[in-house]
Amino acid sequence: MKKLKLSLLFLSIIIACLSVDAQETSKKKLQDDFEQFKKNREQDFQSFKQKREAELKKMQLEYQDYYNEMTGLKKYYVQKKDTVKAKVVDDIISYETNISEALGQPLKVTEEVKYGTTAENKIYKINPRIKYESKTEEKNDEVTPSVNHPVQGETPKIEEASSSAVTPSLTPLPKQKAIITSPFGMRNHPTLGRPVKHNGIDFGSGRGTEIYAASNGKVVLAEFNSSFGNYIVIEHKDGQSTAYAHLDRLAVSKGDAVAKGQIIGYSGSTGRSTGPHLHYEVRTNGTPVNPKDYLIESK
Ligand SMILES: [Zn+2]
Repeated sequence: MKKLKLSLLFLSIIIACLSVDAQETSKKKLQDDFEQFKKNREQDFQSFKQKREAELKKMQLEYQDYYNEMTGLKKYYVQKKDTVKAKVVDDIISYETNISEALGQPLKVTEEVKYGTTAENKIYKINPRIKYESKTEEKNDEVTPSVNHPVQGETPKIEEASSSAVTPSLTPLPKQKAIITSPFGMRNHPTLGRPVKHNGIDFGSGRGTEIYAASNGKVVLAEFNSSFGNYIVIEHKDGQSTAYAHLDRLAVSKGDAVAKGQIIGYSGSTGRSTGPHLHYEVRTNGTPVNPKDYLIESK
C-alpha cells in the first residue's frame, strides 16, 4: 500500500512537471507570435510612412512650383510697371507665405528648381498654341534636309538666305558664348531625383548676350512665360521652328519677319532659371529635336 502511494506521488510529480513544461511551451509560442506580430506591424508602418513621405514631398514640390510661378509673375508685373497686378500677385504670395510659415514649412524661391525640366514640359500642356508630342527618345539623330516637305498650315513662304540645306543652321549666339552647359535629352532632375527629358540645349551665355534668329522666319510668339521667362518662338520653312527662353529682354514682337542672324533679344535669367543662360530648342512639326545637329554656322 505504501509502495502504491509512493508510486502515485511520483506519477503526479511527473504530470505536474509535464504540465509546467507544456505551459512554458505555449507561453514561449505566444511570445514568439507576439514578436512576429510586432515585427509585421513595424514593417507595415515603415512602408506606410515611406509612402506618405513620398506623397508629401511631391505635394511640397508642386506647391513650390506654384509659388515660384507666382514670384516670377510678380517680377514680370514689376518690370512692366503694372502696379495693380503686381499688388494682386504680391497679396497671393503673402497669403501663401503666411500659411506655409504657420505650418512650419516656410517657402522661398528655390534655386534648386533647375531650369529646363518638368516646368518646361508643362508649358506644352498649358499653351495649346504650341504643338507638342511627347517622345521619350529620338529615333533619328541625323539631319534630313527636308526641302521636299510641304509647308505647314499658314507658315509663310520664306526664302532661305544661306546655301545650307539645313534649317535652322545658325548658332543663336556669338561663337565665344556658345558654350553648352546642358545638352538635349534625358537628364537627372535635381530635385525629383529621376530622369526628365530636356527639350533643348542650354548655353551658359551670361546676361546680355545678343541672341540671333537661327534662320529666316516669322515670330509667332514673343511673350513672358512663368517658366520660360521672356520667350520667343520663330517659325521657319518646312515645319521647322526654334524657341529661345529666359531672355533678359526681347527685341522683336509677335508677327515680325526676321532674317537669319538678326538680333531678336538678349540672354538673361527670367522665368524659372538658376542663372543667366539661353535655353534653345529646335522643333520639327512641333516636336523638339536635338539642336546640336543645327549648329552648323556661327558668327
Ligand atoms: Zn534648358
